[in-house]
Amino acid sequence: MASKSIWLCLTCHTCGARCPNGIDVPALLDPIRHDVLRRKIGITDPKVAIFHRAFMDTVKRFGRVYELFLVGMYKFKTKTFMEDMELGWNMFRKGKLHLLPPKSGNLSEVKEVFKRSGLK
Ligand code: SF4
Repeated sequence: MASKSIWLCLTCHTCGARCPNGIDVPALLDPIRHDVLRRKIGITDPKVAIFHRAFMDTVKRFGRVYELFLVGMYKFKTKTFMEDMELGWNMFRKGKLHLLPPKSGNLSEVKEVFKRSGLK
């Protein structure tokens, strides 16, 4: 739980798709991450935990990732407003950061998942 590695997984599912034993690594890491956050132990880099919480919060609010909200939450909480400005601008220019939140047809289902899981 103290390993920084649990926070490096991007949930791309490449390893699970290629694993001959069918091990779903992201599915194993998610409960560990949540347990670390819930128990407030083993977090070596607070920014990683802040990013994870901002990510989960945006999914909970919008039913899927809303990158501009995610970046805003992360920047506000880490007070790193001026870091990555050029990257952010380039992402915006290329249409990777949308001004309006995405429409999610299953927001109520996503909220129900959060409610049942006890995630805050
Ligand atoms: S899903 Fe697997 S391959 Fe993808 S980032 Fe996570 S551990 Fe790596």
